[in-house]
Amino acid sequence: MFSYRHGFHAGNHADVLKHLVLVAVLRHLMTKPTAITVVDTHAGAGLYRLDSDFAGTSGEAADGIVKLMASPLAAEGAHPLVADYLDLVRGFNREGRLKIYPGSPFVVHALLRREPRDRLWLFELHPTDSKALAGHVAQMEKVRQVGQKREDGFEGLKALVPPPSRRGLVLIDPSFEIKTDYTRVGAAIQDALKRFPTGSYMVWMPVIPRPEAHALPRRLKTLAQQAGRPWLHAMLHIGQADEAPAAPLAGAGVRRPGLTASSVFLINPPHTLAAGLREALPPLVEVLGRGRGQAWKVENGG
Ligand code: SAM
Repeated sequence: MFSYRHGFHAGNHADVLKHLVLVAVLRHLMTKPTAITVVDTHAGAGLYRLDSDFAGTSGEAADGIVKLMASPLAAEGAHPLVADYLDLVRGFNREGRLKIYPGSPFVVHALLRREPRDRLWLFELHPTDSKALAGHVAQMEKVRQVGQKREDGFEGLKALVPPPSRRGLVLIDPSFEIKTDYTRVGAAIQDALKRFPTGSYMVWMPVIPRPEAHALPRRLKTLAQQAGRPWLHAMLHIGQADEAPAAPLAGAGVRRPGLTASSVFLINPPHTLAAGLREALPPLVEVLGRGRGQAWKVENGG
């Protein structure tokens, strides 16, 4: 426990997929004038310096946001879903050079409305990242709309759904350091769906050769179907360069550089999102893809 630090992975291909979809979901929720509540059960440190020792050591952003920003897609006007995400990241890098990468707390905060008064709840257990997050939160413009707890996000979620306005998003983005994370995600979604069936839910997960990783999207699909709610599953696989050695079987640090694919599972997604991602992901995988095995997939139902 606690060997995972998101700073090593910030801005990698998995963050690109997750945060691009997160922006799209929030935009959709914010088309209505009712306030929303966002619960980020696994928040991380919030903001990351891409020139830090962390990011420099792993260099994962080079295969993610750095590559995307330097690509013709960023210059020529990408699909609106990609363009919206890139604009948000540019907002943190006003001098032009890509130095800062916003984690999910800051992606959400950037879009949070003052009127209506949207809310954001952040959970982070790691002592160092929780402290870093608190420092970053203290500097937020809309700090009064943000609550942070150094508590277990799966447990903390229970008291926050349904939110008072009955509109909101739950983002569950564990590090999957421990096997039980997989079953805890399923249990948390099952419980939250009972309390708040109309809520929006988004789960990030690694695509790795482990039975629990294969089982989780199937479990989430079953839960959505049992609750009679629509679902969407989107996957991005950047593949391997032909000369690259085979990726190590992921152990504790599933997001280390060996991770080549990840997916996001949504319940109650925006109804236009599947079509949007089917247009946005092919050019994205062309840019981020490294060769053998590169692929994308969008499935939806309900
Ligand atoms: N959501 C962040 C983003 O997109 O920028 C990244 C989060 S990172 C993948 C997962 C984080 O969850 C780590 O910082 C880890 O310390 C934290 N964590 C692990 N188990 C947790 C738990 N049960 N409750 C809250 N945080 C936890």
